[in-house]
Amino acid sequence: MGADAGVRPAGRSATVDPAGAGGGVDRRAFLLLAAAGLLTACAGAGGPAAEPVADSAPVAAPPPAEVPPAPAPTPSAPAGPTRADVVARYGGVAPTAFGLEVPGVVTRLPTAERVVALTFDACGGARGSGYDVALIGTLRTTATPATLFLNQRWITAHPDLAAELAADPLFELANHGTAHLPLSVTGAAAYGIAGTAGPGEVFDEVEGNRRTLTELTGHAPRFFRSGTAHYDDVAVRIAGELGQTVVNFDVNGDGGATFTPRQVSAALLSVVPGSIVIGHLNQPTGGTAAGVAAALPRLTAAGFRFVRLSEYLG
Ligand SMILES: [Zn+2]
Repeated sequence: MGADAGVRPAGRSATVDPAGAGGGVDRRAFLLLAAAGLLTACAGAGGPAAEPVADSAPVAAPPPAEVPPAPAPTPSAPAGPTRADVVARYGGVAPTAFGLEVPGVVTRLPTAERVVALTFDACGGARGSGYDVALIGTLRTTATPATLFLNQRWITAHPDLAAELAADPLFELANHGTAHLPLSVTGAAAYGIAGTAGPGEVFDEVEGNRRTLTELTGHAPRFFRSGTAHYDDVAVRIAGELGQTVVNFDVNGDGGATFTPRQVSAALLSVVPGSIVIGHLNQPTGGTAAGVAAALPRLTAAGFRFVRLSEYLG
């Protein structure tokens, strides 16, 4: 398998079975739930950015006075393009795909080993700022690593919890966006939530929370998943320029936190080597925690090992 084996080209959705042998929790069910307004965990609380990044141009730090100027006049600005760079570069570029799986979005780990990446989103917003203490407790007591995609709104609502999760080596924090919007250069909507309207708003959605997470953890996050997990291919390229690998999933673990524990467990038991599972840590009244607790020992007994995304994605 090549290094890009986990990147799904467009039009190959049939190769990504969210439920596999689990049955009953496939992507069609996921979409039906969403259409019925039941995709509450992530889709229910979209809205304008609480803290829009209006002026995102990085400011070059002046050289220390006691250090002579470098031979080349290269500023010590952060790596990566500015908002203006992104707008100039992608302003006229039309996307060719929009959805859960578009070119450049990773949905599986590039490995045949019996490893699984559990990922849990924390969406934030009026209906998405809960904290599933039972889920996190289960992951800790079973020493199960996971990657946690935190939205900036959730971090703002839970600064102490966010710091606690950041300090726990069991977990790796990732970027779930600034305002929890579909990532688009045309305003394309998902689940009734309008996406970012252009390259500048894509920059804001990715970079705003990238900076928040960088301050929180001391290093930049490597992985991005948008609110609703929808993207167009141009927005994915912009995220890449901002140092973010866009990661979705091949197993829908909790149907936007609408699944019963039995459904969650069945979904998790459908994993294959290299699966990436999406769940939520912000809806403690859902079935996620109980379903995960039921599935973990069975998956371990079946020879699966749990990993953070960074262990297999560059
Ligand atoms: Zn979300």
